[in-house]
Amino acid sequence: MANGAPPSQEMQKYGAREGDQGIVRCDACPVLCRIRPGRVGACGRYANEDGLLTRSDPLVLSQRVAEAGGVMVPFQAEDAQGQEWDGRLLANAETFVTGIGSGTTYPDYKPAPFIVSSQYGGVDTVTVVTEGIFSYCGVKVKIDTDRHLGPETAPVRAAGEMVGHVTTAEYGSQMLSLGGVRHLTGGSKKEGNIACDTLLKLCSGEAVELEIEEGATVTVQADRAPIVNGHPEERMRVGCGSATVGIFAQQWHGQVDEVIVLDDHITGVLTEHQAGRCLDMPLSGIRVRGRKSTPGRYFQVAEPGSGWGGTDITDPLSIVEKIDPKTAWPGLRLLLTSTTGEDALYCVLDEELRPQQREIPAAVRKVVERIGENCEPALCSVIFMAGAGGSLRAGVTENPVHLTQSVKQALTRVTMGGAPVYIWPGGGITVMVDVTRMPENAFGYVPTPAIVAPMEFTMPKADYEALGGHAGAVVPLEQVLREQGESAKAARWRDENPWPLEQSKGGRP
Ligand code: SF4
Repeated sequence: MANGAPPSQEMQKYGAREGDQGIVRCDACPVLCRIRPGRVGACGRYANEDGLLTRSDPLVLSQRVAEAGGVMVPFQAEDAQGQEWDGRLLANAETFVTGIGSGTTYPDYKPAPFIVSSQYGGVDTVTVVTEGIFSYCGVKVKIDTDRHLGPETAPVRAAGEMVGHVTTAEYGSQMLSLGGVRHLTGGSKKEGNIACDTLLKLCSGEAVELEIEEGATVTVQADRAPIVNGHPEERMRVGCGSATVGIFAQQWHGQVDEVIVLDDHITGVLTEHQAGRCLDMPLSGIRVRGRKSTPGRYFQVAEPGSGWGGTDITDPLSIVEKIDPKTAWPGLRLLLTSTTGEDALYCVLDEELRPQQREIPAAVRKVVERIGENCEPALCSVIFMAGAGGSLRAGVTENPVHLTQSVKQALTRVTMGGAPVYIWPGGGITVMVDVTRMPENAFGYVPTPAIVAPMEFTMPKADYEALGGHAGAVVPLEQVLREQGESAKAARWRDENPWPLEQSKGGRP
């Protein structure tokens, strides 16, 4: 059960005995639980085992396996006998000590739980390993859908409590901003607890149902399709209506006389659009509702909704304001479709220039299907965002501003559970991390309420000394493996994450 550090040392690090009943006081967070023998503290992360304070979760050591030539080989989830890997440490693997299960630096006066010296890529490095207690934290959720989920700034609720709001939509996605110190600590106790629980579930890859005021009910789960009002979303649009008109203009040319791509943002009308002009397509005389932005590009053709292209339109012909008899002609072939190609209607104008629905010709259908083919799968992305405050930084150095400067100068690499983070410019160490790049069960909570998350700072040994690090607390990796190896849990290093001090891959952080 314990994370493997000699119990007496762990006791000194995180708590103290109280009275003569075997009670121990945990001081790993401000709650200061008094834990009776055989019981766990309020967060479930610390326990009293025979009068000694122990950590309930194992320390996680992330490992990768290299062949003799230095080429990385896939980590086997099963051994040679086909047995599932049981999480024991591999002797022939390179190891990185993550902050998961490491313990915190609260109440801010002690060095981080593990300050590990090791060699990465031939460089002598130090990795400062800790867990942070984050009251200032939240998640940004990106939901790939055109569907209107709710007005910007609308409250987002979980279990009846407000836990965040709708923020600005991005290209092809609706965005939510959840958590933050005002929901965690600035409202009622219930609001804080539900906000904390919502963040923890989302960061742990669990599904959460969110209700948006004057909007949709959405089930959100990292790396899974969003479920909007009970319907799983499948496609992320290929582009706005204008872009869709432009991308497929050549393929429609000769097959149809006009294409209207409905979009809540920019509805495209092919023959007016510059793409149609470049192809010398004659104007169709079909005018759509809304505010004309530039030729062939219309804003506000309808209200936002869950109909065609994120509008409230279910009858696409209702956006046709007029058909100019001086320009249009009987037999004109009109296609209306959406930015995902999920909806399409093909019409031919009759003698009175009224659109009459016809079966979509095969050549036209092929292009509509190609719109769908070019859509990516709709997913939810969950990005944890937090600021590394005083406690975390004091665990690294006696002069915390030096750590901030070192991070800003890119001398110190910051990771969370081994996953790379994006560091915001400006003051402090404010980070964002994709929770799907972290090991399982990387997050915890304390009932203040706040989220507990791992954080590691890796830098060349000389830089650690230069920034006034806790040199006396540095231990070699071999010692950590010796002392923690029995009870620690090994996790597969994720191939998409750069190894400490290596360059990132494919433009990712
Ligand atoms: S909530 Fe957890 S970390 Fe905080 S004092 Fe209690 S047992 Fe320790």
